[in-house]
Amino acid sequence: MPMIINGIGVARGVAQGPACIIRHGLTSVVKRTLEDAEIEPEIARLQQAHADAKQQLQNTRALVPAAMRDEIGSFIDSHLLMLDDVLLTETPATLIRTERCNAEWALQQTMEQLTAVFEQMDDAYLRTRRNDVEQVIQKIQKNLAADAEDSPERDLTGRIVVADDLTPADTVELQNQNIAAFITALGSPMSHTAILARSLGIPAIVGIHDSSEFLRDGDLLLVDGRGGTVLSATDDWLIDQYREYQREEQEREESLMQLRQKPAVTRDRCSIALKCNVDLVDEVDEVHEVGGDGVGLYRTEFFYLNREQGGASSDEQYETYRDLVLALDGKPLTIRTLDLGADKEFDPDYEGAIAPNPALGLRAIRRSLQDKPNFLAQLRAILRASAHGPVEIMLPMLTNSAELSQSIILLDQCKEQLSREDIPYDPNVRLGGMIEVPAAAICAEQFAQQLDFLSIGTNDLIQYTLAIDRVDDQVNYLFDPLHPAILHLIRRTIQAGERTQTPVSMCGEMASAPNLTRLLLGLGLREFSMHPNVLLEIKHIITGTSIDTVRTQCEDILQSTRPEQIRDKVEAMNQA
Ligand code: PEP
Ligand code: MG
Repeated sequence: MPMIINGIGVARGVAQGPACIIRHGLTSVVKRTLEDAEIEPEIARLQQAHADAKQQLQNTRALVPAAMRDEIGSFIDSHLLMLDDVLLTETPATLIRTERCNAEWALQQTMEQLTAVFEQMDDAYLRTRRNDVEQVIQKIQKNLAADAEDSPERDLTGRIVVADDLTPADTVELQNQNIAAFITALGSPMSHTAILARSLGIPAIVGIHDSSEFLRDGDLLLVDGRGGTVLSATDDWLIDQYREYQREEQEREESLMQLRQKPAVTRDRCSIALKCNVDLVDEVDEVHEVGGDGVGLYRTEFFYLNREQGGASSDEQYETYRDLVLALDGKPLTIRTLDLGADKEFDPDYEGAIAPNPALGLRAIRRSLQDKPNFLAQLRAILRASAHGPVEIMLPMLTNSAELSQSIILLDQCKEQLSREDIPYDPNVRLGGMIEVPAAAICAEQFAQQLDFLSIGTNDLIQYTLAIDRVDDQVNYLFDPLHPAILHLIRRTIQAGERTQTPVSMCGEMASAPNLTRLLLGLGLREFSMHPNVLLEIKHIITGTSIDTVRTQCEDILQSTRPEQIRDKVEAMNQA
């Protein structure tokens, strides 16, 4: 009997393959029933995780400074003693044998039994030892989880990853392992993980809570990333239906390829620039494949997140940027300076990683300005790359003019330094800023006067204007690109550009949504930067649009306040 589970489809495409359950932390320990032959290896796995926990504690003990050895050492000793207790050495192993369950589940049961005993104790001190029991057991659980994830037989090729949550760095890693699709319990369409999945072409669904209750490792799944549906135990008829759908998608893509060399011009001869968003260096080939006009957003932070040690020297960055410039063969490359922070963190020890609200904390340009050596290193690398072809610098999350003036001073410093060293760069490299905070959109004219271009980052503009965390699926229902406040802020930014003759682009996900193309043209947008895989579809829409018509329709939409009315009008605009 097929089982259908619905979530939020965030990256379209259909994939079929066996499920692979990945868990981080201890939030969802799932019971797995073992075959006879699996029981003894599972006990051995538990014993190894137990022995590793003991070794780790002994290593930690050896590192305790002499002055604190008595106090901290005896604390660690008490944990070592617990590890040696028969309740932890024997009980879970017995459970694996009698219940035929996995080690994680056996440990979880043991922990629950033990903590219940501690809870009933009258002695307050003994009751607090419950935490120690939990900590010790969690140590073993972590080793089990690491063992499951690092295990060499865990080949993810062609598998559908089922996880509680994935970071952008995990997503890049999984793509390198050729997964077929992923499903997560948490997340939302505008999270950087979802954006990456779209740009990497990995079908993905988020918001499937408790998926590990329904799905087991190895279950054959069919994932429809467009509709947000997961089918388990599918029958041949359904699989045929999906194959048919895949064939149609392929035909549609092939027919769109004919537009590749054609200009993006509206019916009334208005030229539109269509650039691509690039998150990973390898994606640059797609810009040529779809005939894009260049890269309107290169997110440099993924270069950081994808590395073992985080960070990258100025020379290393220069080489990467230079290779991108050369690969673009004369098409412009807009390099956005680091937008680290919030859901893009490569350094778990970084203070900001535990900020009370990282999205409102030291993120993007704020963080760069606090970490001048790294910011200067990045600016220097970008400037050096500009000697090889057209490069633009883009500053993320500008909020006030001081951030812009400080950035300009640092950029000038870098230029002077390079001139002194006789290192070539383009002295006229264009500097742009992202409009992604309501304050910046309201003051867009002020920013436009000091910048060579603006680019609207609608993902954050929506997050900050509507006060909804873009990675929190619980408030995803409020994420509304058609909210009147968003439309007015976009219009205001475009008008600021028109008044100051500053080009305005859009690189947020709205620019990649074919159902919003006409609306954005009507609002005055003339440059889009999007996922390469939607560029031709959007070009097709542009060639069938008349600016005069959509401008008038937009004037009407801007007068509307009721969401359903706006939605209907946008739909009508797309039908014509
Ligand atoms: C945006 O906020 O719209 C944007 C393009 O930047 P990012 O998604 O990387 O935050
Ligand atoms: Mg942003």
